[in-house]
Amino acid sequence: MKSVRTVAEMKQVAQSHKVGLVPTMGAFHEGHLSLIRAAREECDFVVVSLFLNPAQFGANEDLDRYPRDQERDARLAEEESVDVLFVPSPDEMYPDGFGTWVDVDAQGGEAVARPGHFRGVATVCLKLFNIVRPDVAYFGQKDAQQVAVLRRMVGDLNVPLELRVLPTVRDVDGLALSSRNAYLTPAQRREALALPRALEAGRTAADPVSAARAALNGLEPEYVDLLRVGEATLLTAATRVGTTRLIDNVVLEGELR
Ligand code: AMP
Repeated sequence: MKSVRTVAEMKQVAQSHKVGLVPTMGAFHEGHLSLIRAAREECDFVVVSLFLNPAQFGANEDLDRYPRDQERDARLAEEESVDVLFVPSPDEMYPDGFGTWVDVDAQGGEAVARPGHFRGVATVCLKLFNIVRPDVAYFGQKDAQQVAVLRRMVGDLNVPLELRVLPTVRDVDGLALSSRNAYLTPAQRREALALPRALEAGRTAADPVSAARAALNGLEPEYVDLLRVGEATLLTAATRVGTTRLIDNVVLEGELR
C-alpha cells in the first residue's frame, strides 16, 4: 500500500486518473484533433466518444447524409494515443422506454434556428458525462452557443466536471473546419469564405451585427447575433451555401474559456 503524507502528493495521486472526454460525431478533422491533443496533454486517460446523435438533428436535417468514416476516425484516434474510443449504438444510448430530456433555457441563434437541437445536445452530453465520468470535457469555440448551453447545464445541475473550450481551427483561407464542409463543391467552398470574412469585418466595426450582415457578399444569413459565453462576447452567424448549413463566430470582447 502507498502511504501519502503531503497534500501536494495526495493531490497528485488523486489526479493520477484524470480523465479527459472529447465528445464528437466523427468524420474527424484538425478541429477534433486539436481537442484530442489538448486532452492528451492535460489528462492521464483520454476518452473520445463517437456518436452521431439522432436526438440533436431535426426531422429535415442532414442526419442521413452526415459524413461517416469510422475506420479512419479509429486510425486517427489511435495515432493521437487516445485510450478509449467510445462508439455506442443509438439503441444503447436511447433504448426503448427512454423518456428523460435535458431542456436548457437558451435564446437566439441556434436555439431558434434549430428547435430541439440543444435538448438533444444537452441530453447526450449529460449521458456521456455520467457514463465516462470525466474530470474535464473538451469542446470547440466553433460551436460557441453549445458551450454556453453546456456551461449552463453543468452549473444548474451541479455536474462535477470542468469544461474546456479550444479555439476554432480554420483552413489557411479562413474557413472554419467542419465535417459539413465535405458537402461543398469547389465553387460553393469559395462562396462560403464570405462567412468568416463577414465576421472578421464585424469584429472591428462599431456595429458588428450590421457590418457582418453587409459583408456577407450575397450569402443569406439565417441569423447574425451577439452571444455571451461566460466573460466573452461573440459575434455569431449561420448561413446556407446551397443546401449546406454553416455556422461560425469570432470573439468581440473578453476571453472564451
Ligand atoms: P462535432 O463532431 O461536429 O460534434 O464536433 C465535436 C467537437 O469538435 C465539438 O466540441 C466542436 O465544437 C468541435 N469542433 C468542430 N469543428 C471545430 C473546429 N473547426 N475547431 C475547433 N473545434 C471544432
